[in-house]
Amino acid sequence: MVKIKSIEYFRVLPRWLFVKITDEEDKYGWGESTLEGHTEAVEGTLNALCKRFEGYEADNIEHIWQMAWRLGFYRGGPVFMSAISGIDIALWDLKGRRLGVPVYQLLGGKVRNKLSVYAWIGGDRPADVGEAAKARQAQGFKAVKMNATEDVNWLDSPSVLDSSVERLKTVKALGMDAALDFHGRLHKPMAKQLAKALEPHRPLFLEEPLLSEHPEGIKRLSEQVSCPIALGERLYSRWDVKRFLEDGSVDVLQPDISHCGGISELRRIANMAETYDVAIAPHCPLGPIALAACMQVDLSISNFVIQEMSIGMHYNLDAGEYDITSYVKDPKVFNVQDGYVEALKAPGLGIEVDEEVVRRVAQNTPAWQPKEFFGPDGSIREW
Ligand SMILES: [Mg+2]
Repeated sequence: MVKIKSIEYFRVLPRWLFVKITDEEDKYGWGESTLEGHTEAVEGTLNALCKRFEGYEADNIEHIWQMAWRLGFYRGGPVFMSAISGIDIALWDLKGRRLGVPVYQLLGGKVRNKLSVYAWIGGDRPADVGEAAKARQAQGFKAVKMNATEDVNWLDSPSVLDSSVERLKTVKALGMDAALDFHGRLHKPMAKQLAKALEPHRPLFLEEPLLSEHPEGIKRLSEQVSCPIALGERLYSRWDVKRFLEDGSVDVLQPDISHCGGISELRRIANMAETYDVAIAPHCPLGPIALAACMQVDLSISNFVIQEMSIGMHYNLDAGEYDITSYVKDPKVFNVQDGYVEALKAPGLGIEVDEEVVRRVAQNTPAWQPKEFFGPDGSIREW
């Protein structure tokens, strides 16, 4: 058995946090702990976990996961779970590389050969989604996701919702599917109206119609419309997911592999969801390591439906074109054709991280912060 020699992390543009684990034989694996807007907090947690797990046997992924979860006494939450996620993903990559097989082989093998994918359009202030959707179509996408609205007040004029319906119709007229992300921007008085208004135009799904801290509200809203309800990016473990499965409010679960405990926990959440007839569409507006890790799980689970990918996303472009292709030596693995990305074939996560670029960019990357949104009266609006 080979021991972990070192665990390092790298903050890179546009807003990502990569983890590298090296074993005593100098074999390595990469993970991703990105938690947008809370980089320094995750780095602090990683400082403690990195030191703690040096000297552990690298093959014992589940033991390390359980040690982090159970013996810390305090557990869960976005910061802690994002730190675990990066370590977990890196350990799976390391193991796959050592054995010379893709991670999906270690998860039971493939149940599909390619993965349906979607990308973002519209940015934080959705406008001109027609042109943006056409550009995605030209890139090979058949489905997109956009913010349903700009920032909205707790109770706002019903007319602020009209443009959402128009945008959905515009994208659908191109023959594409569109998911609408409410992004937690809408509160109950507006969310129920918007869901009803969108319903006749058949969005692919409605994402976070309310924040997951309002399970009773989501359940009621889910009963009011036929649109599939998607959520999960702000749920951080199978214990967080449990009540949404039990109360029947969620149709499409969107765990984020960098926040929910990595490959190990995403796989477990997917299996739990399968027993409630709930689909899995992993959330991933993040980096190439998170995407490759998601793809390894997607290839091995029966209830996978569609994978988010951040290629060309506004956050990436804003940061000087640092994109998911910038840090891998083989960017073609993320090529999209007819709405699909082919199964990854190389060992481990199936990508080759360009360590030289990672180390160079990491020398001078500030911690990313989200934009601030304020209403006309100066009060905070949800990001
Ligand atoms: Mg979202």
